[in-house]
Amino acid sequence: MVRVLAVTNQKGGVGKTTTTVNLAASLAESKQRVLLVDLDPQGNATMGSGIEKRDLQSSVYDVLLGNKTVAQARKAAGVGGYDVLPANRELAGAEVELVDMPKREMRLQESLQAVISEYDYVLIDCPPALNLLTLNGLCAAKTVMIPMQCEYYALEGLSDLVNTIRKVRASLNPVLEIEGLLRTMFDPRNALAQQVSAQLEAHFGDKVYRTVIPRNIRLAEAPSYGMPALYHDRTSKGTQAYLALAGEMLNLSSKIKAA
Ligand code: ATP
Ligand code: MG
Repeated sequence: MVRVLAVTNQKGGVGKTTTTVNLAASLAESKQRVLLVDLDPQGNATMGSGIEKRDLQSSVYDVLLGNKTVAQARKAAGVGGYDVLPANRELAGAEVELVDMPKREMRLQESLQAVISEYDYVLIDCPPALNLLTLNGLCAAKTVMIPMQCEYYALEGLSDLVNTIRKVRASLNPVLEIEGLLRTMFDPRNALAQQVSAQLEAHFGDKVYRTVIPRNIRLAEAPSYGMPALYHDRTSKGTQAYLALAGEMLNLSSKIKAA
């Protein structure tokens, strides 16, 4: 069964895009068929996958507006063996243009149906806002991954996100669940980070992924080469962490299947 995961946090710069791109490459490395959906007008996941956002013939914007199918708009990542439904600045207009359209929150979900059987994983990179684009991500998804930095303000805003997820579940997408909180850019030498990390585990228990993503320069460099870190430096701690996260997720899904 395909797993559709929205990578979401309305807080900016917490590692959503880095996670989506590197997880896509890591799952593809394990022979999973992966579609990455870039739902952010910044187009960072598109560029980080080696696709030039300025040259797009069509993008997720056209799909949301119903002018193109996913099959028409998707592209193969430059390296990494996964597909990308790309985005660029045009997508910023979708918010306004969708407002008067019927079922405006369901447009991604509906357009994905035609290709969904071709994939094992669909990973949706959401923008840093609780807006209509993110709502489309949450309505298309079955589970949510929340990347967060272990810092003082990390928990602030989490309750807004959890409330939004609850509302979406109540009205639009009854199957939606939080799969897990992912600790990103972790620096074990930082006492506060250790503290916040322990708090997260205490509050959220097994909703916190065991895998912790360290702060690692290779992860930050890789997008400038238009590739996931796996192809930039395979041995780096960052690459290894995302491979481990993919392993943890594959394990999770085999447990679900067995149950
Ligand atoms: P936005 O909210 O703007 O979409 P985001 O949540 O998608 O941001 P990223 O773009 O993934 O966050 O990361 C923000 C910045 O931090 C980027 O410059 C990225 O390269 C860097 N970064 C992300 N994760 C790590 C990490 N584990 N180690 C070092 N740098 C990282
Ligand atoms: Mg991003």
